[in-house]
Amino acid sequence: MPELPEVETMRRIVERELTDLRLSSIQLRLPKLLRGSPLPTLDPLLGRTVTGARRRAKVLVTDWSDGLSLLAHFKLAGQLAVERPDGRRSVAGHPVPNPSGVYPHKATHLLLEFDDGTTLFHSDIRQFGWLRLMETDDVEAALEAFGFGPEGVGSDAITAGQLGQRLARRRIPVKQALLDQGIVAGLGNIYVDEALHRANLHPARPANSVVGGELNRLHEAIGWALERGIEQGGATIVHQRAHPRDGFPAAHGREGEPCLACGGPIAKTRVGGRGTYLCPNCQPVA
Ligand SMILES: [Zn+2]
Repeated sequence: MPELPEVETMRRIVERELTDLRLSSIQLRLPKLLRGSPLPTLDPLLGRTVTGARRRAKVLVTDWSDGLSLLAHFKLAGQLAVERPDGRRSVAGHPVPNPSGVYPHKATHLLLEFDDGTTLFHSDIRQFGWLRLMETDDVEAALEAFGFGPEGVGSDAITAGQLGQRLARRRIPVKQALLDQGIVAGLGNIYVDEALHRANLHPARPANSVVGGELNRLHEAIGWALERGIEQGGATIVHQRAHPRDGFPAAHGREGEPCLACGGPIAKTRVGGRGTYLCPNCQPVA
C-alpha cells in the first residue's frame, strides 16, 4: 500500500511535473472520492495553476493559485500517474494500474488535464482513498485534526528523546506502537519491519522496554528505512523486483530468503494482527 515514501514520491512528481501548469479539464468518474470534502466539487480548480505540493504523514497536499488546496489520502491502493504531452510517464503508489500499461485504467477515478497537454491520473482499485478540496487557510487545522505524531524523516523528524517518551507509555509490542500514526507519522508495515530488523529488535518486544542504546539504534533505523524507501521511489515499486537493492528491503517480503546480515532464513509471523518479517537470529525475543 502507499506508505510515506510512496506519498513523498508522489509529492515530488506533482511538484516537478505540474507546478505552474493551468488546469483545463476535470473528469471525476467516482464522485465518492470527495466524501467529507469541505468543497463538494473540484470545479473551483478549473483555470487555476498548481503552485506546489507538500506532505504531512501520508496526506498529500497540492496547493493551487488563489488560495485553494487539494488534500489526498491514498489508503491501501491509490496510485498517482502524470503523463507529459511527449508520453513520458511518472508513476508512484500501488502497482495497479500497470505503470507501463494503457491509461486511463478502469480503476482510474480522476483525470486532470492541463493546458500544455499534461494529464494526471488518480487511480484506486480498492476505493478507500479520498480527496478533500478546501481553502488553503484551512489546511493546517485539517491536518491537525488527524492527530499525527512527529514525522519519521525530514527536517522536523522525531528525535530519539521524543521517540523514547512516546514508547515509554506503551506496553504493547514495539511493532504495533510504531504503526500508531500518533506516535510516529507515516510509518507503515514494510518500514517498521525494516527498522526493527536493522535495530536487531524483536517486533513483539514491549514498546516500553526499548531504551538506551536500543532506542538510539531504533531511532536511526527508522530514518534509514524511510530514506531508502524514498530513494527507491517507494516500496510498492521495490516489491516488483526479485531482490533487495543497497540492502533494502532486508527483511520484509523475503520469507525463507537469507538475512542480509547473518545469512539465516527470514521468518514470517504475525504481530499486532499484521504479517511481520524478521530474522530470528538477529532479532532474538529477549
Ligand atoms: Zn539475521
